[in-house]
Amino acid sequence: MGTSIFTEMTELARRTGAVNLGQGVPELDSPATLLKDVADAVLSGHNQYPPAHGFPALREAIAAHQLRRYGLDYQAQGEVLVTTGATEALASALLALCDPADEILAFDPCYDAYAADSRLAGAQLIGVPLVLDGDGFALDADALRAAVTSRTRMLILNTPHNPTGKVFTAGELAAIADICREHSLTVVTDEVYEHLIYDNSAHHLTIAALPGMRERTLIISSAGKTFNTTGWKVGWLCGPAPLVAAAGAAKQFLTYASGTPYQEALARALGSVEEWATELRGTLRRNRDLLSDGLSRAGLRPFRADAGYFVQADVRPWGYQDGVRFCRDLPERAGVVAIPTSAFYVSADAPAWLVRFSFCKQAPSLQTAVTRLATAR
Ligand code: PMP
Ligand code: GLN
Repeated sequence: MGTSIFTEMTELARRTGAVNLGQGVPELDSPATLLKDVADAVLSGHNQYPPAHGFPALREAIAAHQLRRYGLDYQAQGEVLVTTGATEALASALLALCDPADEILAFDPCYDAYAADSRLAGAQLIGVPLVLDGDGFALDADALRAAVTSRTRMLILNTPHNPTGKVFTAGELAAIADICREHSLTVVTDEVYEHLIYDNSAHHLTIAALPGMRERTLIISSAGKTFNTTGWKVGWLCGPAPLVAAAGAAKQFLTYASGTPYQEALARALGSVEEWATELRGTLRRNRDLLSDGLSRAGLRPFRADAGYFVQADVRPWGYQDGVRFCRDLPERAGVVAIPTSAFYVSADAPAWLVRFSFCKQAPSLQTAVTRLATAR
């Protein structure tokens, strides 16, 4: 496996002093009480291994969150597993549930860990491209159906979506669920941006809540994006007991367990996450608007981003057909780092001219970036 695009671009930003709109690493604050609770937990000696499946209080808080928000009733004991970030939840699920030569479907573009984890499991990730639809991205249900073979074991869904900011609609989820039920596919749904939706017309729905889907679906999420605590690496998965037990068995030999003081503090924070998320959404919505407007003013064509951390832009108006070349030139030309969206494609037919810009930053960083882009135009 090579160096990830996030490592490469963050290093480029560090070397050149450019504003890093590449990696989705937040510059935003976390809830003050959460930080204090972690400090207290560390100082009062809560520093040893947690239980392998996570502290009961956090598992209870996760189960309550899923019931409150999605009407999904998971048993804290047996149907919830705390992991070292969504990253470990993904790896555990794929290692546990896929065999060598299995095929796994994901929508292209997709988060880079999906292909890497598939490879670790000896399986093959097949990209089903989302289609460009006006200023957004849409499901092609026929393409998904056509991609299923006798070897297809699993579908990985990600909504809200990285890198596009798309929120899958109720109609799209129903069409995906039909295909998964028809072909007995297991679904892993990555919902780490579940709280970060900016447009009233878009709602986060989980495919696990559709008829016949709970028993075949693992929901994955993380505290990283919701509380601006990406460095703590506390994530989780929820699902039917046999699937969670299998993922838990794999997890034992990845990290076993981690994050004792964080888990304890997050158990409390998750109980009142809605209040915090309302404030965070306001900040991120303003950031998204600042970035999208700035990209437009700089002559780069932004796509709609209803959720998450990222805006896609078409860089052809600057004379580039290739986003990789654009991103390599950008630090020198404009003092900004972005990520070529082609890095997120599994299939060969990526639109090479798409580039991802991140807006989970302080407003002054974004202001500097858009001013530089407008000047460099
Ligand atoms: N899935 C997606 C779609 C992501 O954007 C991220 C963020 N890096 C992750 C998973 C990994 O989350 P975590 O940092 O909790 O491991
Ligand atoms: N999720 C973040 C992104 O997409 C960071 C990923 C990482 O650094 N591995 O940029």
